Amino acid sequence: MSYRFFDTSIEYLKGVGPQRADLLKKELGIFTYADMIQHYPFRYVDRTRFYTVKEASAEMPYIQLKGVIRKIETIGVKRAQRLVAHFRDETGEMELVWFQGVKWVKDALKTGVKYVVFGKPNFYKGQINIVHPELDLVPEYNATLSSALQPIYNSTEKLKVRGLDSKGIAKIQKSLVQLLSPALQENLPAIIIQDLRLLSHYQALINIHLPQDNELLKKAEFRLKFEELFFVQIQLLKLRVHRKEQVIGHHFTIIGDYFNRFYKEKLPFELTNAQKKVLKEIRLDTGSGKQMNRMLQGDVGSGKTLVALMTMLMALDNNLQACIMAPTEILANQHYESITKLVEGLGINVGILTGSTRKRAREVLHESLRSGEMHILIGTHALIEDVVQFKALGMVVIDEQHRFGVEQRSKLWKKNEKPPHVLVMTATPIPRTLAMTLYGDLDISIIDELPPGRKPITTIHRYDNSRLRVFGFIQEQIKLGRQIYIVYPLIKESEKMDYKDLMDGYESISRSFPLPDYKVSIVHGQMKAKDKDYEMQRFVKGETHIMVATTVIEVGVDVPNASVMIIESAERFGLSQMHQLRGRVGRGADQSFCILITSYKLSSEAKVRLETMVRTNNGFEIADIDMQLRGPGDITGTQQSGVLDLHIANLSKDGAILQVARQAAQNILDEDPHLEQIKNAPIVEYLKNQKRTATNWSKIS
Ligand code: ADP
Ligand code: MG
Repeated sequence: MSYRFFDTSIEYLKGVGPQRADLLKKELGIFTYADMIQHYPFRYVDRTRFYTVKEASAEMPYIQLKGVIRKIETIGVKRAQRLVAHFRDETGEMELVWFQGVKWVKDALKTGVKYVVFGKPNFYKGQINIVHPELDLVPEYNATLSSALQPIYNSTEKLKVRGLDSKGIAKIQKSLVQLLSPALQENLPAIIIQDLRLLSHYQALINIHLPQDNELLKKAEFRLKFEELFFVQIQLLKLRVHRKEQVIGHHFTIIGDYFNRFYKEKLPFELTNAQKKVLKEIRLDTGSGKQMNRMLQGDVGSGKTLVALMTMLMALDNNLQACIMAPTEILANQHYESITKLVEGLGINVGILTGSTRKRAREVLHESLRSGEMHILIGTHALIEDVVQFKALGMVVIDEQHRFGVEQRSKLWKKNEKPPHVLVMTATPIPRTLAMTLYGDLDISIIDELPPGRKPITTIHRYDNSRLRVFGFIQEQIKLGRQIYIVYPLIKESEKMDYKDLMDGYESISRSFPLPDYKVSIVHGQMKAKDKDYEMQRFVKGETHIMVATTVIEVGVDVPNASVMIIESAERFGLSQMHQLRGRVGRGADQSFCILITSYKLSSEAKVRLETMVRTNNGFEIADIDMQLRGPGDITGTQQSGVLDLHIANLSKDGAILQVARQAAQNILDEDPHLEQIKNAPIVEYLKNQKRTATNWSKIS
């Protein structure tokens, strides 16, 4: 049985037909048998297990009971009508309630005969009831029960109306699975199946939809998750193999004067061991003649900028230009300032290009880039535009990369005939599983050490009513010569309210910290870039003591003298975001503090976020918990969702399987980089047939 089978339009499946097929396409994106079979159950219900009325509680996700209906009555009139059936077993009585199809259900129900009732128990007016239960007469129930574990499928309101609720979909799946032949083509090499004791492709598909028992279900799940992750990994790793073989990169033959003089004369401190290690990795890449595609992960404040600069100097030493792209103008400016200062006297031309660069300056800049006179360009998205052309771009650094889409990245490295080396930096440590999937084709470097002398930031959670005490603390810190950030949430949907909160806060802070002893800056998204910059600069220069801001200061801003970060309405911030904000302090030698202020009303998720912040400073741990809470899609934004288009594997939960899958893929490619060996034919065959998948792997660079 070949893969052709799976290309069949869903319309031709028994029990579907043109109309339902249309609906399945629109509602669930199911076009073919392949799509259908991959619409896996999200849960299974054990239908051999019965409970009693007495045992029912609202906490149960579902319950199954056996008993009789004693009495049926309609309550209310017309539109507000509902049907109530009084259901009884040997332990007690409960109500079954229908709001829809009242007449139809009423006619169908019989009193005095035995039913199996299935549904979600609710707590209503001091009683347990079930709304819209499933009902089967006992003999029918016994006849239809093909498996103890009943699969539950996602459906939509529109599908339900057409009879395609979970049960309806289960029926279709059953008829589809029955068409499968045990001779179904295998998509994994025999050796993997053997080594990992996997079910066959066929067995896995059968048991995911019609599990015979729990053990087989678990095995089917494992096999399908593994398979899914394996095929993602093998494609990513193949891309890497391909690039290493085919894409010729700039060969940095020497480490020259720029780098050496900077190192000897300019470097303001000793590099950390982690910084040295990463620079060595980069040196190896750039000296190999292959194009570098490396991701640099390092927690906030770990000193990535310096690594970026020294990497760019390597390019300059080889008569090539370099650029660094930052996600915000403030950050680009800050890079520009710190980098110009660092390379002063080395004869290096550094330019800046952002949205607010004037036309005239822009033209001059363009010209100097084309002539090669400009060595290092620092900028925002403005860098990507096609008019920006280099004489010879050898190194691209992308800072805080998660804000750039995959496509934007690929645009950058097309600025040359020979692609530049690419260093992608991120301060939001990405959970390993996600990194392996999103950036699985990149080499990864990690700075896992902060510069010496940093004291871990102390994080404290306080409720609204202790704000006065917090203000007292701020005064003390300012007396010690420190500066303070106070951050307010800014969420698009409630922009107006947020703005008001911010302004109210600013006023109350200005009152509590009056001039001339205290000076307060404010920065928010509705200010003009120029004013924002002016205020920011005052704070950077130490002219103001307190910076009141929205999250615009989230990324990268570096004021070593700021030692306190206060986050107002902290319950409204995401975990990674709070961690980013916290990273704004603790950059100098002083003890720093992060104070999270919230109201008393906290959701359980908010509690986890706050506890996590108080407990740990470890960005990787925080990233992992963040992913557990929010799921992988939200973390990366929708732009990359294609890569995460997984049907059964879950990157928050299946990290262990992912490791196994990646290793297996790696082993295969180590031995057979082009998948030419006959034993790997199933992989090639399967990939060839996966054309319809949404992801365009060539775009991921
Ligand atoms: P991030 O990784 O968040 O971009 P930065 O590059 O902004 O961090 O560095 C944070 C601070 O640490 C800067 O003030 C920088 O000058 C300083 N720094 C970087 N490397 C070292 C080092 N090896 N020793 C001491 N301070 C360092
Ligand atoms: Mg940075």
